[in-house]
Amino acid sequence: MNDYSRLIAYLDGYGVSVSDEQIYQLDKYYEMMTETNKSLNLTAITEFSDVLIKHYIDSVSIIRDIDMSREISVIDVGTGAGFPGMVLKIIFPSINITLFDSLQKRLTFLDGVISELGLTGIHTCHGRAEEAGHMADMREQYDLCVSRAVANLPVLSELCLPFVKVGGQFVSYKSDKGSEELSSSGHALEVLGGSVIKEDIFTLEDSDIVRNLIIIDKVKSCPKAYPRKPGTPSKKPL
Ligand code: SAM
Repeated sequence: MNDYSRLIAYLDGYGVSVSDEQIYQLDKYYEMMTETNKSLNLTAITEFSDVLIKHYIDSVSIIRDIDMSREISVIDVGTGAGFPGMVLKIIFPSINITLFDSLQKRLTFLDGVISELGLTGIHTCHGRAEEAGHMADMREQYDLCVSRAVANLPVLSELCLPFVKVGGQFVSYKSDKGSEELSSSGHALEVLGGSVIKEDIFTLEDSDIVRNLIIIDKVKSCPKAYPRKPGTPSKKPL
């Protein structure tokens, strides 16, 4: 078993306690990820000490701004190997989460993790955000949308905001370039019904990595024309 004391201490700082079972689940996930990574490109980060900070602590850092102890519906758009969504589900089991991605192979890996860990209130969903954002059972159905390392903010807003209920939130895990991206997102947010409430800029635990969590409220419904067809948001950002 790897040493999770930094993560445990980090969460303790926010009043979140983790059980031995949750630590076991994280460790099993780490083991499955590094094993699968030998044949499928899941992550460039494989050393345990790096995964702990850059994937696990980074994923849960949303606790700085969002109360994750609620029974909320969450979607992780472009979840890849499960970041931040899988870690959020393990640490905050009351959430109901959809891990969404356009690459089936990564979702098949995540299905294996869900089954091995016996997790409930979590499922994977395959598709393009540009299409899924129009489906009745997904459009404006989520209290919270999270996304890390998928696209720049004007594009990402078009992929993510259509999933969020009016009154819900979209949290984008950005780097030190976040403010710059945000300054070119004004039009996109206005059109898509988003309103920025906060940029939370900090240095990730035990590293010099700057993280900017951009918190966006969904203040009005998204016009039917959005998201546009696959590829258009990135080719012609709003
Ligand atoms: N969020 C993970 C992380 O931070 O480690 C994965 C990031 S990876 C660089 C980007 C992921 O977004 C890929 O798995 C890709 O398949 C997915 N993706 C990109 N565009 C997408 C779209 N339009 N709809 C759904 N998934 C998309």
